[in-house]
Amino acid sequence: MSYQNTLAYAQSQDQADSLRSFRDHYFIPQQNGTDTVYLCGNSLGLQPKAARAALEQEMTKWAELGVEGHFTGDSPWFTYHTLLAAPTARVVGARPEEVVVMNQLTVNLHLMLVSFYRPQGKRFKILTEAGAFPSDQYALESQVKFHGFNPDEAILEVAPRPGEHILRTEDILATIRENESELALVMMGGVNYYTGQVFDMAAITQEAHAVGAMCGFDLAHAAGNVTLRLHDWNVDFAVWCTYKYLNSGPGGTSGVFVHERHAQNPDLPRFAGWWGHDQGQRFQMKKGFIPMAGADGWQLSNSQVLPMAVHKASLELFDQAGMDNLRAKSEKLTGYLEFLIKELQQPKTALEVITPEEPSARGCQLSLLVHQNGRQLFDTLMANGFILDWREPNVIRVAPTPMYNTFEDVYRFGQFLAQHFRS
Ligand SMILES: *Cc1c(COP(=O)(O)O)cnc(C)c1O
Repeated sequence: MSYQNTLAYAQSQDQADSLRSFRDHYFIPQQNGTDTVYLCGNSLGLQPKAARAALEQEMTKWAELGVEGHFTGDSPWFTYHTLLAAPTARVVGARPEEVVVMNQLTVNLHLMLVSFYRPQGKRFKILTEAGAFPSDQYALESQVKFHGFNPDEAILEVAPRPGEHILRTEDILATIRENESELALVMMGGVNYYTGQVFDMAAITQEAHAVGAMCGFDLAHAAGNVTLRLHDWNVDFAVWCTYKYLNSGPGGTSGVFVHERHAQNPDLPRFAGWWGHDQGQRFQMKKGFIPMAGADGWQLSNSQVLPMAVHKASLELFDQAGMDNLRAKSEKLTGYLEFLIKELQQPKTALEVITPEEPSARGCQLSLLVHQNGRQLFDTLMANGFILDWREPNVIRVAPTPMYNTFEDVYRFGQFLAQHFRS
């Protein structure tokens, strides 16, 4: 790409962008009556304009039909979750029967750990990335304790080498091999929330399986952001939230992937509920849990129709845009951001991008390590119409999403930084 640091160039890229009309399907937060430059879809994605109508449709149905809504119309609540399976599968590279939308992320992580963290004898360890998102750390720590182990012994963390910020795949694979007889599970983020690094999920899964361990990923920062092929990569399980890149609202519902080879495995323990029970017999209300085949069999409760209605409206936009098209635009957009940051010509002692340079090793987010007065820069940005996010001690995460961000957004951010570092 030969990028240019001019407004005219940014605008010409937006003109040529085949996905440019998707921005109009979202509400862009305002400051002083104008659009903000929203670069925070990694934290909370923007509201699709269609979400309200989708929600209202179910509210109206509830008002007009009451309990009959469970079995009436073209989206009966009784099977509402099934409407989300196919579009979800397309986002994460799965078969529809391998995914289900339910609960929230950390809850689902625990449900998956119940099934896939099965310590036996000296095979009791979990390998994860150092500095994983706190909720994941707490989930692993508490699961390990639940099984009677000491987290300091049972949880292995792979850290960047001294002086480096990102993990080397070779180090992850080597740590798996070094612990081959003690490893029960490899469980990490698909994209690290802090650095934006995309892990080589295919290679990690393969190595985990080679030593006899299970392998799962938290895709909170990956789903809707990078290309995923969970089925082909043979991943055992994955979980993600829907309110980040999937734009499905604060505290929205979550998705789960369970590879089809586990679909019918009765030896896999699980915590069960009536919604995971064989649908044909669910209302016989009898003793004896018979799981539905596939990911559906991990459901506990009946569908959360309201957040799912929002999610459904959002997934329709992902289907219209297509993950491959989104990813292609995303590489250009983030490449442009990287180019503009390099144009600042700041020494590493002032400003450092800690996200990998290799496009396949990152999604849309770049994490900027600001060595001096980072918080002050962040606050100034926020006061001037830019919405980003800050991570202690000194990182600004910048996430231009291909769905609703423009090259002009990125250009304006670059201009603001240029002014800041000049003064
Ligand atoms: C955002 C995020 C969470 C949040 O968990 P919730 O259960 O949705 O509150 C957990 N893990 C990771 C990796 C995240 O990025």
